[in-house]
Amino acid sequence: MKSIIFKKPGEWAYEDRPIPQIKNPDDVKIKVLGVGICGTDLHVLMNPPMHPAKPDIIFGHEYAGEVAEVGSAVNWLKPGDKVIIDPHPPCGHCEHCRSDRPDMCTTLYSQQGTPYFEHGLVRGLFQDGALTSYTCVPSYSVFKIEKDTPFELAALAEPLSCVGYAIEKLHIQAGDTVCILGAGPMGLLFTAMAKANGASKVIVSEPHEYRRGKALKCGATRVVDPKTENLKQICLDETNGLGVDHCIEAVGQLLMTAIDVVRTSGKVIMFGHDETAAPSIKLAEIVRKEVTIFGGFLGKYYFEKTGRIIESGILPLEEIVTHKFPLSQYEDGLELLRAGKAIKVVIYPEEY
Ligand SMILES: [Zn+2]
Ligand SMILES: [Zn+2]
Repeated sequence: MKSIIFKKPGEWAYEDRPIPQIKNPDDVKIKVLGVGICGTDLHVLMNPPMHPAKPDIIFGHEYAGEVAEVGSAVNWLKPGDKVIIDPHPPCGHCEHCRSDRPDMCTTLYSQQGTPYFEHGLVRGLFQDGALTSYTCVPSYSVFKIEKDTPFELAALAEPLSCVGYAIEKLHIQAGDTVCILGAGPMGLLFTAMAKANGASKVIVSEPHEYRRGKALKCGATRVVDPKTENLKQICLDETNGLGVDHCIEAVGQLLMTAIDVVRTSGKVIMFGHDETAAPSIKLAEIVRKEVTIFGGFLGKYYFEKTGRIIESGILPLEEIVTHKFPLSQYEDGLELLRAGKAIKVVIYPEEY
């Protein structure tokens, strides 16, 4: 089966790989229908890389598919079921898994051998992922979704599960005011989710005009170009001089801006991921305003709900998936993303 293989920083290849077979009674063989290209994939493909990955694995971790075959112990899925897949199946045995933090599972990002190493490793980064025709995964990482859900929207499940869990930490209530920094795919998912949760104002700050246009379509009540407009003043003006209730940082470098735009007792979630960022912060602002700052990374116990959100159509996800390409045109998808001309590109296999 034709597959996209991560070779080394800056390099990938379009190669043939054997169709995987079910090994464990709990395995499910997935026929891949669609795979989103993630910002993390672009980071892995940079040289030097901004994110690690294991050479020679099949790339791609944001995906949806159809059950092709089930192992002998799987009685709740059948061939033909449409499914979304959590690419970070927790091992279930480490200290984090056994203390209610499966999203922090030790083996997810571990390259060392551990007893449940094979289950824990992230698909598409540290073991074979989904930019191919078939992949085998443990059944506990598979979630059913309505059959008529478009595959390209279902492929948003993984990023949406991370966003949904982060939004839960903020407890956005009807009428709340929200500022979102950045309108890439994650910022736009946050915009749509904040609106769906009942936020009265969703102010989105984004320097690129194309992305600001998308933010308006995803539910932003106001968009701001931070290069030419005063975001802090706009947030104050929009909230009777108070500042917003919540700020979602979806860039990776703008924690100080987030602290600046929230009201006293406001909440900030740091979600943008930049391993190199080390901004200077006016700590007294956090103290004086009694700001609460959360970190957001992976989703936790959120995949089931993610399926319900996607199939319900309550989010304008079709605004976020801007392009679809067959596997052989993977490079075209990368190029559009690098040029800032696409939001989310979904790749689909051409042969089974
Ligand atoms: Zn991703
Ligand atoms: Zn674990």
